[in-house]
Amino acid sequence: MIQLTKKRTVDDINRKIENGDANIYTAEEFKKLIKKDSAPGFDEVDVVTCGTCGVMSGTAAILNFIVAEPGEFIRASEVYMNGVPAYAGPCPNEWLGSVDVILHGTAHSIYDESYGGGFLLKEILEGKSVDVRVESADGKTIENTITKADITRAQIIGARMAFKNYTAFTNPGREPVKSIFSAVPLEGNLRGLTFSGCGDLNPLQNDIPHNVIRQGSRVLLNGAVGYVLGDGTRSSAEKPNLMLSADLCQMDPYYLGGFKTGQGGEVYDTVAVPIPVLNEEIYNNLLITDDEIDLPVADIKGRHLPLDSTDYGRMWTDHDLRPQYDRTKCGTCEKCTVEEICPTNAFSAERLNLAYCFGCGMCANYCRHDAFEMNTGSVDLTINDRNVNVPIICRQSDRLRANKLSMKLKNMIENKVFRL
Ligand code: SF4
Ligand code: SF4
Repeated sequence: MIQLTKKRTVDDINRKIENGDANIYTAEEFKKLIKKDSAPGFDEVDVVTCGTCGVMSGTAAILNFIVAEPGEFIRASEVYMNGVPAYAGPCPNEWLGSVDVILHGTAHSIYDESYGGGFLLKEILEGKSVDVRVESADGKTIENTITKADITRAQIIGARMAFKNYTAFTNPGREPVKSIFSAVPLEGNLRGLTFSGCGDLNPLQNDIPHNVIRQGSRVLLNGAVGYVLGDGTRSSAEKPNLMLSADLCQMDPYYLGGFKTGQGGEVYDTVAVPIPVLNEEIYNNLLITDDEIDLPVADIKGRHLPLDSTDYGRMWTDHDLRPQYDRTKCGTCEKCTVEEICPTNAFSAERLNLAYCFGCGMCANYCRHDAFEMNTGSVDLTINDRNVNVPIICRQSDRLRANKLSMKLKNMIENKVFRL
């Protein structure tokens, strides 16, 4: 048995950071070196910042804001924000004119199913106005408009975040299937595959035994400094995820938002976690790469029946992270399919807004005149004794955002504004 003896403490690493001579890599930088067979050894790496970005349905926000003068109503019984229902309470705020609410990132507007909590949270952070309607316990309706400046306190709690093990889905049946795993019904006869997960960048993938990612660990959640509260809901040793929390008002709107699916609006978040390389076991766990991480492929109907399996190397290696839009090829169709299906509303009026783009690949797969170019790849599968090459048509995780937040965390550690 090999003896793992090399060790260092968090204080040792903090001293090196203080002196400006710590070796800090993002997971992307570190994995690139591993893939080139030139990974820095244990003595040459102190911290690796890992990240993930994807649809994280467990996202909820607890908010307090003022909607009326004190004494105007007794307490809220129903609250709607841009038509999205938020749960009134838990604090009743009797006669104060303010409300406490819990808003689910997956809640849908009563006017438009494709708009929901995720889109609303992004708009709040962007400083946009939000229409609020309160139905009070004493039978009054209070209508007002608020912005981020009217919010006295807001905290995000993610009940299930940074999920490590996902499943990819395809549809072997004949009829298209509507689901939360694709912005449009997933066509039958194995015409496409949808998947989630940032593979070897995911923090939990790089610390499978939870040697350093624990209750109380500091993280970046959508750009704000936050904490691990503990295991997330449905977390298990095989399929771990985290419960995280951070101040909503400190977050950067780039890193969170809404994501349209076949079952209405969902919510995406971005998480970055530092892994201090304290011993050789932690170092060895960081050596995992995409092609060593399995990804089962299941029938979109039923979800848990694996049909075949692939790996994250096939999902991400050499594929594009963003599309290119060529206006000269745009046929200006009567109804633009891309505008309709783009999960983050990044394309409208012949303009691609890369700040909103999630790199899902739907535009390149659905544009009627190939005005979008983006290689999202395909995967060879054997399903029901049939060998098929299935194109990857929808990615519900975004490695570009994950990389950017990991880089931000690396810079914050180097600049001593994020202490391990
Ligand atoms: S579907 Fe494609 S070609 Fe048609 S209007 Fe939209 S972007 Fe242009
Ligand atoms: S890749 Fe295309 S469809 Fe997906 S978010 Fe970006 S513009 Fe929209």
